[in-house]
Amino acid sequence: MEHIETDVVVIGAGVAGLVAAHRLRERGRDVVVLEARDRVGGRVKSDLSNGFLIEVGGQWVAPDQERLLALIEELGLERFERYRAGEDLYVGREGAVLRHTTELPPLPESTLAEIERLTDALDDLSREIDPLEPWKHPCAEEYDAVSFGAWLRECSDDAHAIDFVAPFVSGGMLTKPAETFSLLAALVMAASAGGFRDLADLDLVLHERVAGGMHRVPERLAEEVGAQRIRLNTDVRSIAHGPEGVRVTADGLAVRAREAIVALGPHLVSRIGFDPPLPPRKQQMLQQFSMGNVIKVQAFYETPFWREQGLSGTTYGPYEIVHETYDNTAPDYPGGTLVGFVSDHRADAMYELDESDRRDAILGSLAVYFGPQALEPALYYESDWINEEYTRGAYGTSPAIGAITRYEDLVRSSAGPIHFACSDIAGLGYTHIDGAIRMGERAAGLVA
Ligand SMILES: Cc1cc2nc3c(=O)[nH]c(=O)nc-3n(C[C@H](O)[C@H](O)[C@H](O)COP(=O)(O)OP(=O)(O)OC[C@H]3O[C@@H](n4cnc5c(N)ncnc54)[C@H](O)[C@@H]3O)c2cc1C
Repeated sequence: MEHIETDVVVIGAGVAGLVAAHRLRERGRDVVVLEARDRVGGRVKSDLSNGFLIEVGGQWVAPDQERLLALIEELGLERFERYRAGEDLYVGREGAVLRHTTELPPLPESTLAEIERLTDALDDLSREIDPLEPWKHPCAEEYDAVSFGAWLRECSDDAHAIDFVAPFVSGGMLTKPAETFSLLAALVMAASAGGFRDLADLDLVLHERVAGGMHRVPERLAEEVGAQRIRLNTDVRSIAHGPEGVRVTADGLAVRAREAIVALGPHLVSRIGFDPPLPPRKQQMLQQFSMGNVIKVQAFYETPFWREQGLSGTTYGPYEIVHETYDNTAPDYPGGTLVGFVSDHRADAMYELDESDRRDAILGSLAVYFGPQALEPALYYESDWINEEYTRGAYGTSPAIGAITRYEDLVRSSAGPIHFACSDIAGLGYTHIDGAIRMGERAAGLVA
């Protein structure tokens, strides 16, 4: 067994862990980062397939994601805007493909009015919520006791309007059915992005990308931390802790440090054995966080053929297998790329199919929007996060109904010399890279 001594041991080399390590190094602390995978970046990852660079995980930057924007600049990286010129497409329950340049598609007046009313109601409520301390809202318990889906149905009897509005949180963000999380969890998601209207505004949420790929962020962070301080292929199995510090063990390695930062999703913390065990309420709480599931699909074509038809590549179809798509062409790519998302129960259904049938079903759904040309990409790529041992879903974790008010700040609270960091415990930037940075910097700040 190899033994290492350091000031702070960081578990997980995702953005949160790397940011924590980088900030601690700036403060002159000795740091060792232990990462289970053979690469850094966690849910930010690129893949090279047939010469195509593919952003497999997190990629977009919103203008209000201040910590991410600052970090991109600090690391000397460039950004570019998403292509969005042309008309958007909407496919509703009846399956007709509607073109539009207005924010909302040409639906019946009464449905449009109901969408606006629900959007206003959610926007108003979400702006009352502090995403870091949502349990402090006077109605928090009431909002945390009802599912988002049930609340929407109480508010409106227009099923079409509900089906239009709900996926901005359910399929589009928490990637779970609207019945499985609370109204309060939905409001936290919206508040973490500035409010429900901002969350639903694609020009904000999907504004820019990092030139060369978002994976340049964790790669550059790793360079700053120093490769010799990052141990890959090191799956942490146990953490012993006491007043004298921590002893973290992985296969063939033991690290002694004064403090530890556990920088992984709450759903993965209990893979690690703690001695003594974490406080009982904290263990209970960790079990309330579960991953959503979404398949990010990218199809690379010889030309961006939709642009020639005056289309932006932006689509929305709450009843479609692929419920949203965007033009994802990188500036240096000679053809055209579409990215689409298959979320929650549709993702479940797709995983019941074998690979070839799944591809046919998903490309068939792209063809509903874009016609038969969509069926013949030069390269088709599915991001398969559910089968990744060290992630187990996408985009992030969210709490069960009632858990926000039951456990309040416990998800972020330190256990003696052990601190926690992850995008999934953030307020602003919750389940986003911006939130991972905020939580990494917070954890570094807690270290003595
Ligand atoms: C498909 C997809 C699309 C996304 N799109 C966007 C987007 O466009 N914009 C955006 O802002 N966000 C997006 N996100 C979310 C964003 O990528 C994440 O919120 C963020 O990267 C999480 O960073 P993290 O460091 O908190 O956690 P993670 O990235 O999950 O890092 C945790 C790290 O811990 C490691 N680990 C786990 N267990 C152990 C162990 N026992 N021992 C050692 N190491 C361990 C893991 O391997 C991993 O490297 C997306 C995510 C996915 C999956």
